[in-house]
Amino acid sequence: MKVLLVEDDLPLARGLSQALKRHGFAVDHVARGRDAVNSMGLNPPDLVVLDLGLPDMDGMAVLKKLRHQKAALPVLILTARDALNDKVVALDGGADDYLSKPFEIEELLARLRVLSRRLSTSLSSEIRLDSVTLDQASQKVTVDGEPVALSRREFMLLNALMQNAGRIQTREVLENKLYGWGEEIASNAIEAHISYLRKKLPRGFIQTIRGVGYTISIDQQG
Ligand code: CA
Repeated sequence: MKVLLVEDDLPLARGLSQALKRHGFAVDHVARGRDAVNSMGLNPPDLVVLDLGLPDMDGMAVLKKLRHQKAALPVLILTARDALNDKVVALDGGADDYLSKPFEIEELLARLRVLSRRLSTSLSSEIRLDSVTLDQASQKVTVDGEPVALSRREFMLLNALMQNAGRIQTREVLENKLYGWGEEIASNAIEAHISYLRKKLPRGFIQTIRGVGYTISIDQQG
């Protein structure tokens, strides 16, 4: 799950980015509205956290442009405390939710979980394929009911593959889902994570499509 964080308060942005990453989100951070709008083309996020008070553009104008490019994109607005009118305008303008500053990081995470759950096609946060169950809310994975310990990136990778079961995920697509901009990616990073993952999952669960990427078949039985 990739979050685009649009926030010009750099210490706050840094803290939020770190917390979001710890909780399994990939984060792209921009400080200007124009950069947020421009980022929508190549590698669009799944969710946006948008500060309304930006130096170069009004946050509402940014929201409008984001909506224009991707109508279903969930956007959570950050507003200054007590700016009730801002909240109403933001919700009227198509924001999915808002938080007043200052807020607890736990509150932001809870709101984002709600938005990301709404995104997933099923009502449940759980994906089950064969003997493997992945819970997006609790970030827990079990095989035959037994908990499996995964690193943060391993979880994100498995989540991306299971969400898209039956479809091939290229290495580039997976890299984009696991890493934010400017994050150092070793050329064999995805292969390395896949190889660790495979040791923890049933044999043959993740299939390699040689020269293309990886997939999990939707109808594997034993
Ligand atoms: Ca601001």
